[in-house]
Amino acid sequence: MEKALVAGQWTRARSGATFDVIDPATGQKIAAVPDLGADEVNLAIAAAYRAQKPWAKVTAKDRASSLRTFYDLIVANADDLAIILTAEMGKPLQEAKTEVLYGAAYVEWFAEQAKRIDGDVIPSYQLDKRIFVVKRPVGVVGAITPWNFPSAMLARKLAPALAVGCSLVAKPAAQTPLSALALGVLAERAGLPPGVFNIVTSTDAAMVGSTLCASELVKKISFTGSTNVGRILMRQGADQIKKLSLELGGNAPFIVFDDADLEAAVEGAVAAKFRNAGQTCVSANRIYVQSGIYDTFAEKFSRRVSRLRVGNGFAEGSELGPLIDANAVKKVNAHLENALSLGARVTVGGEPNRASEQFFLPTVLVNVTSEMTIAREETFGPLAPLFSFDTEEEVIAMANDTEFGLAGYFYSRDLGRIFRVAEELETGMVGINTGQISSEMAPFGGIKQSGLGREGSKYGADDYLDIKYVCLSVG
Ligand code: ADP
Repeated sequence: MEKALVAGQWTRARSGATFDVIDPATGQKIAAVPDLGADEVNLAIAAAYRAQKPWAKVTAKDRASSLRTFYDLIVANADDLAIILTAEMGKPLQEAKTEVLYGAAYVEWFAEQAKRIDGDVIPSYQLDKRIFVVKRPVGVVGAITPWNFPSAMLARKLAPALAVGCSLVAKPAAQTPLSALALGVLAERAGLPPGVFNIVTSTDAAMVGSTLCASELVKKISFTGSTNVGRILMRQGADQIKKLSLELGGNAPFIVFDDADLEAAVEGAVAAKFRNAGQTCVSANRIYVQSGIYDTFAEKFSRRVSRLRVGNGFAEGSELGPLIDANAVKKVNAHLENALSLGARVTVGGEPNRASEQFFLPTVLVNVTSEMTIAREETFGPLAPLFSFDTEEEVIAMANDTEFGLAGYFYSRDLGRIFRVAEELETGMVGINTGQISSEMAPFGGIKQSGLGREGSKYGADDYLDIKYVCLSVG
């Protein structure tokens, strides 16, 4: 393709520079895209600025209708989008299609919500005054997205932004720009006005981030990625009090109490740990199992994990694809080595994959303790550590002993405990007796250092809106 979407034009870098997109399963180059500089990013910002006001003036019903057309096109092209996604990111084709449709669901949802950005009329504090509250789009939004869900993470931002009348300059991760560009093609086909949705591809993420933050025209940054980069953006946005939505790292606890349905807990843990080969911010990072059932759970879970099939995402029956790059493999190996050196034991996996190091074998560790790195850091890979605990109080303290607060999961059939633990877990999202919680109809987001704001649900539009209070004297 070799072109990015700037100001409604498919554009090459002024410098002519491009960078390669690599299939992580094979190491082969699959495409090259423009390596844009600050000039082109500023052009995109200016175009987004020009396009935003007219877009905000389109009636909500017409904006809804454009987004609905966009949604229909994504669904109609889901098979092709899934192929692009698997090629650049590696996840199994079926999972890629699920992601494409999951992202599309946000476009559908916010197409519906576009018509429900209601204001208020508030009882007055004086007889001759009337109080109205209206919601206004914040303006130009800079969206920075990661490689692990290259389609859905962008859809989660562009859908609410466009629905309420904002425009967008999006920067996909350099590893996975093609899914974003494909959404750009469909947005154009859906008749979205030129300039409302710009896509800037670049290997210089820091330059794009600082250009977006430095521009007075950009009113908000919506970012999904690591907590470290979230901090950088927050600092850079400080001068202009830039609005921020941040979906950052997690360190999700997954707790299995001794009253749980063990078979269901095993399936839930597999889903929460191994989806996307463990490369999701809501992946179960620490699995806590009550001591009385620890051995039984470890055995059932290990047996189930040993049946997971690893392979090229395009191969029939693959359940785990490759990790995104060599650094990802290094990190998982470092967590594994550290745990082994401190007394953990492997029950499944663990050894290097002879076929290719890039395909990390799903691994289960027992005898894991809170001194190990894996207890504190997000592994972002298919390594499942089993910790043991005795009491509810103890496990809640262990689960909350982290600066992160994105997702938490637990399995129990005791109604009182279900309420207690759901209330005590310091996370923005809690899955009870399920390992899968994401939906466009629910508010996705974290507390503590996992972020700010929510994506999806009736709350998701708020991140892209300003509240304007209007006071009218009728006297
Ligand atoms: P990951 O570990 O998932 O790659 P990152 O936070 O590094 O997490 O990346 C998420 C997104 O943030 C990507 O699009 C990446 O290019 C971008 N990014 C990385 N560094 C910066 C930065 N300094 N400023 C803005 N964006 C950045």
